[in-house]
Amino acid sequence: MPGVLDARDRDGALRRLAAGPLDVLVIGGGITGAGAALDAASRGLRVGLVESRDLAAGTSSRSSKLIHGGLRYLEQGDFKLVKEALRERDLLVSRLAPHLVTPLPFLYPLYKKVVERPYVGAGLVLYDAMEGTRRPVPYHRHLTTRGALRRAPALRPDRLAGAMVYYDAQVDDARYTMTVARTAAAHGAIVLTRASATSLLRDGERVTGARVRDEETGREFDVRAAAVIVCAGVWSDLVHLTSGVRAGYQVRMSKGVHLVLAGPAIDATTGMIVRTSKSVLFFIPWGERWIVGTTDTDWSGDRAEPAANPEDVDYILREANRVLAKPLSRSDVLGIYAGLRPLVAEPAPEKNTDKHADKHTGNGDKPTTKLSREHVVDTPLPGLASIAGGKFTTYRLMARDVVDAAVAGFPEPVPPSVTGQLPLIGADGLPAVRASARRLAADYGLEVAAVEHLTARYGAAAVEVLDIIQADQSLGQPLTDGHPYLRAEVAYAVTHEGALHVEDVLARRVRLLIESPDAGTSAAPEVAAIMAPLLGWNRRRRATEVRDYEAFAAASTAALHTPQPLPGLADEALVSA
Ligand SMILES: Cc1cc2nc3c(=O)[nH]c(=O)nc-3n(C[C@H](O)[C@H](O)[C@H](O)COP(=O)(O)OP(=O)(O)OC[C@H]3O[C@@H](n4cnc5c(N)ncnc54)[C@H](O)[C@@H]3O)c2cc1C
Repeated sequence: MPGVLDARDRDGALRRLAAGPLDVLVIGGGITGAGAALDAASRGLRVGLVESRDLAAGTSSRSSKLIHGGLRYLEQGDFKLVKEALRERDLLVSRLAPHLVTPLPFLYPLYKKVVERPYVGAGLVLYDAMEGTRRPVPYHRHLTTRGALRRAPALRPDRLAGAMVYYDAQVDDARYTMTVARTAAAHGAIVLTRASATSLLRDGERVTGARVRDEETGREFDVRAAAVIVCAGVWSDLVHLTSGVRAGYQVRMSKGVHLVLAGPAIDATTGMIVRTSKSVLFFIPWGERWIVGTTDTDWSGDRAEPAANPEDVDYILREANRVLAKPLSRSDVLGIYAGLRPLVAEPAPEKNTDKHADKHTGNGDKPTTKLSREHVVDTPLPGLASIAGGKFTTYRLMARDVVDAAVAGFPEPVPPSVTGQLPLIGADGLPAVRASARRLAADYGLEVAAVEHLTARYGAAAVEVLDIIQADQSLGQPLTDGHPYLRAEVAYAVTHEGALHVEDVLARRVRLLIESPDAGTSAAPEVAAIMAPLLGWNRRRRATEVRDYEAFAAASTAALHTPQPLPGLADEALVSA
């Protein structure tokens, strides 16, 4: 099967979904829902997925973009989570998605000469040991102060007492989520975006499907399924509530903000992690730029567009400046984004939850930094399974667990999960495509760097983008100055990656929303022009798309345009790790 999400065939997907009946209907197209759809479809089940907005439009495009064990969770004693996450990290890096998940070194600067090195060193020995000996990333290393400054001249040298280096991995979270959904489609799943489950269908106690609203037209229809799986992240409580379901857990929303900085703002050849008074701050290389964050604060506002505020910006800059020799200012900030962690606030009752539930009671008042990142699966009614919590890194295990719960009552036995053996679209054939960059560049009339850019984003499927360029050479031109994206990537986003709107392209298929100082608004007319003939847009529709995107971009970046003095820093505020 092709594994194509063709936005031009949305009506076909809609018809197939409504025709049903399905074995499994998944609600939510974040990483958990995409993972559940892939898990179920690759077990041979008939699967549909509905997503209110776009794939990864919720939390799954707004993370720190790390595939990691989580050094911080080790310190909190969450050994099982760390061990599972490290194994998943290695599986993704080495087999399932080597084109999308790449190892990344992190420098951990030390400031307390005597106590800190043995403490952090012991933690990293454990971190390495949990991973095992067959590992795709190097072991951690000790560095002297001089060694640390060689890798990260950006660090303040005073009080620096050396550093440690360890490895994790990074990912384009939105691209990864979409690729999982494409892989699910390759196994027969029907994926429909801009379609919301408005209520659950019931036959007595049993859930038999969902009422779905097509958000593009307002039309409603029923989708019948033997099991419904709720993967709605921070919307889970709403999905339960609208159908009168009393689930065994509630979701607590915690907002995390990241800044995107210009590359020259930080002189370092490695990622960095530093302690803050509340948690940790990551400096993550992101192409030519840096992502720095994050915050962790309770949130009770709009789920769809959590707003960063000027205080979030200043908090991140202040914490970063505690360790940097050349302080950052607001003028270094190119972009900003905020996401909501779907943390599990209350445990489900024993009888209905699986073993991953946080068994401690009364965690409703805990600071969100202290809440467990483990996941909870609940089966509140026959025919209904619901999952929340967890991490992007462990999505495959979450998907396996919730599908296991959903199919437990099926009359015929369902095979166990096979996703551990299923490379995602673009992984197969990757070494050959990487090795052929020069030839491909010559064949398609592109720079080698352009072919390498495509391979890094699409893996072996880069040749599909190249074929689009062959058919129309004008699509081999850059989309906009100062960024490596090609015009063909916009067309491919429509024909292969399910992009229905300009926002889908600029916010999640290419990342100009967060990478460009104008949040991609100057590229919006060009994106609309490329999408228009594919999706049958007239002039008025193109203008509406551009205006909608401008409004969305303005709301997303509002915190950067609100003047706020950055409080000065006293020297004594220097890191107390
Ligand atoms: C700031 C921050 C940093 C993070 N960093 C990391 C990290 O570095 N590494 C890591 O492993 N994890 C990280 N995480 C955690 C990780 O991002 C999340 O656990 C994960 O993305 C959650 O995915 P999800 O699919 O459960 O939720 P979501 O991505 O929010 O998906 C839920 C989807 O359901 C849809 N939906 C809701 N209601 C309906 C409905 N009625 N019908 C149809 N669709 C509906 C929504 O539109 C949404 O797209 C981070 C989280 C945050 C907030």
